Amino acid sequence: MTGSERRAVFFDLQGTLGGEGLGDVRDFELYPFASDAVRLVNESGLLAIIITNQSHIGKGLFPYQEYEERMSGIRGSLEQQGAHIDAVYCCPHVRSDGCDCKKPLPGLIEQAVRDFRISVPGSYVIGDMGATDMRLAQTCGAKGILVLTGVGKGSMGEFRHTWAEVEPVYIGKNVLEAVEWILRHETDS
Ligand SMILES: [Mg+2]
Ligand SMILES: [Zn+2]
Repeated sequence: MTGSERRAVFFDLQGTLGGEGLGDVRDFELYPFASDAVRLVNESGLLAIIITNQSHIGKGLFPYQEYEERMSGIRGSLEQQGAHIDAVYCCPHVRSDGCDCKKPLPGLIEQAVRDFRISVPGSYVIGDMGATDMRLAQTCGAKGILVLTGVGKGSMGEFRHTWAEVEPVYIGKNVLEAVEWILRHETDS
């Protein structure tokens, strides 16, 4: 790692920062604690980046322009609460597109690494889905933190076999608890 490299917290969107996990961004609502989590990351000097699969776009169910409007609304709500998202990376594809960015494939993180010169081993992925978010963290060599909001409880239960080879570094009740763990971890190391 060179001195000019930055580190990041990569946030999953649905089920992590808000919403109910599997819907598209039209029915997304930020969790009340999400802005505190993002603001703490801002204050720590780590980048706050959203990485999100939006296959509804690729399926033709949801125009990309509407996705962009919704996403800028989400970022605006966070800004109003003093929380800043440095960047958002979205995979709009369906699996049959054969892209390299649909989580757990590493393309979204690779784009961020190019744009921000990020050190991935010093970075974190926070998400509610083991088979995408935690496997992505493992593939990239980032630290994966599972949250129990969204589909997180199912990830630790009936779907644990879909990511059996992966161990998160921490399991948090929600994204705020996950970020608080990161800040303690950063202080200790
Ligand atoms: Mg999710
Ligand atoms: Zn993609």
